[in-house]
Amino acid sequence: MLQGLMMDVPLLISSLIEHADRHHGDAEIVSRRVEGDLHRSTYRQLHRRARQMANALAALEVNRSDRVATLAWNGYRHMELYFAVSGSGAVLHTINPRLHPEQIAWIVNHAEDRLLFFDLTFLPIIEAIAPHCRGVRRFIAMVDRERMPAQSKVDLLCYEDLVDTHSDQYSWPVLDERLASSLCYTSGTTGNPKGVLYSHRSTLLHAYASVAPDALNLSSRDTVLPVVPMFHVNAWGLPYSSTMAGAKLVMPGPNLDGKSLYELFEAERVTVSAGVPTVWQGLLAHTEANGLKFSSMNRTVIGGSACPPAMTRLFEDKYGVQVLHAWGMTEMSPLGTVCSFKAKHERLGNAEKRALQNKQGRVIFGVDMRVVGEDGGDLPWDGKAYGSLLVRGPWVLREYFKGEGGDPLQPDQAGRGWFPTGDVVTIDADGYMLITDRTKDVIKSGGEWISSIEIENIAVAHPAVAMAACIAVRHPKWDERPLLVVMRKPGAEVSREQLLAFYEGKVAKWQVPDDVMFVESIPLGATGKMLKNRLREQFKDYRLPGT
Ligand code: AMP
Repeated sequence: MLQGLMMDVPLLISSLIEHADRHHGDAEIVSRRVEGDLHRSTYRQLHRRARQMANALAALEVNRSDRVATLAWNGYRHMELYFAVSGSGAVLHTINPRLHPEQIAWIVNHAEDRLLFFDLTFLPIIEAIAPHCRGVRRFIAMVDRERMPAQSKVDLLCYEDLVDTHSDQYSWPVLDERLASSLCYTSGTTGNPKGVLYSHRSTLLHAYASVAPDALNLSSRDTVLPVVPMFHVNAWGLPYSSTMAGAKLVMPGPNLDGKSLYELFEAERVTVSAGVPTVWQGLLAHTEANGLKFSSMNRTVIGGSACPPAMTRLFEDKYGVQVLHAWGMTEMSPLGTVCSFKAKHERLGNAEKRALQNKQGRVIFGVDMRVVGEDGGDLPWDGKAYGSLLVRGPWVLREYFKGEGGDPLQPDQAGRGWFPTGDVVTIDADGYMLITDRTKDVIKSGGEWISSIEIENIAVAHPAVAMAACIAVRHPKWDERPLLVVMRKPGAEVSREQLLAFYEGKVAKWQVPDDVMFVESIPLGATGKMLKNRLREQFKDYRLPGT
């Protein structure tokens, strides 16, 4: 066997910040802080403070592979920890503060976190969980010394003290690239959350793939504002991919309302952003109400749940902002597909382009996918046959942390393992994937499947509808039928009959919901997705008209 003769340089997270410091040292990291002000830093300063923090971690006896947790918004200190913790060989465990405190304590204990860094917003959570998290040696408030809480039930360290009192002389260790670098727990809507443990290698490969033109198309000419939180699958990898590209970063901190975001987009001349549809609803409500336009933003990545076509049309046709509909999962670091056009699509008319953008897109190089039927056999890529989506690739989970849930992979005939995503999809001849549902959300009516996402997309295109969820309810003859749960826009009026009439000509008759229920609000999970299991519970005693 003839081995290649190229250098075996490990793919390490520390190399990202070293590169950004050397080649994009003056590119800015602008952060809205919990202190209220706008903080300005650079990759050079970020690297220096990350080295100081790495020395502080060593002084706090953080060893290789120890877990260090964060409960924090998007900001420069959180970025520093991304590099200080993983770069020094420990594992950064980003926790979603929107989870219930009991669940947070459970996760901290399961992960065996040694330190917990937090933004002051989350002090009440820290005080509630500290007595139950015996393994955590220190709690560190990510705040200036002057703003440290005068009193707290928990003994706290101050982040800035740790940085100030440690030297910036630190050499990042040369680690095995397969070493664990960070840990995220799945949202755990059913059962306990499970840990997804990324490696340096998977993170770097995911970043390389993310910056590519047909993916997020990131460059040093971009100003990136990740609305998606750094506690939701590492802000979809943007802290790494933006650093790799040397892009300016704008971090919104706790202010995620439409007005605050819009002002930051404009003031910092943001070119690209990323977030879940519910966030963009708030932003677009603000721009629509005030007749505003975006002067610098040219594209935005929308994923986490299906981007409603009405939102794509508004962004593209009214605001001139390109929508990159993307799909991924915590188990996939998260990026799997992005809906960017091929050369032949550029010639299409607007309506056809928008129709294509309803799809979640094609895989980025590195991810392989299959769609299989109930017997496990491959289905054709014809845009019609739907089945379960399986994936594999170097940034796709092999098993959960501590082996929870057993072996999750499904072997193919060659014995290679595939990760079942739990999504029901079609794939067309060009490789564009469309999610019709989560397996557990699909509505099975008389042997046929109704896509809840398609029904919801039509509802939110109605001008009076703010949000809509379509859930299955029992039916004596058809097994299940669709019930549409609707939250109206403030002050807007629409009746059940008007909404049902709105479906005419848009879907087959048997796919039209049987009934509409109006609600004050639709429950959202910790990552901004509609909690359909909560709605199913809420409407479990509901009976369809005539049954
Ligand atoms: P999470 O791991 O919490 O990010 O959830 C991953 C799941 O979110 C996927 O398996 C999909 O069901 C859903 N999801 C992510 N992106 C999209 C999208 N663009 N359209 C529809 N569903 C999505």
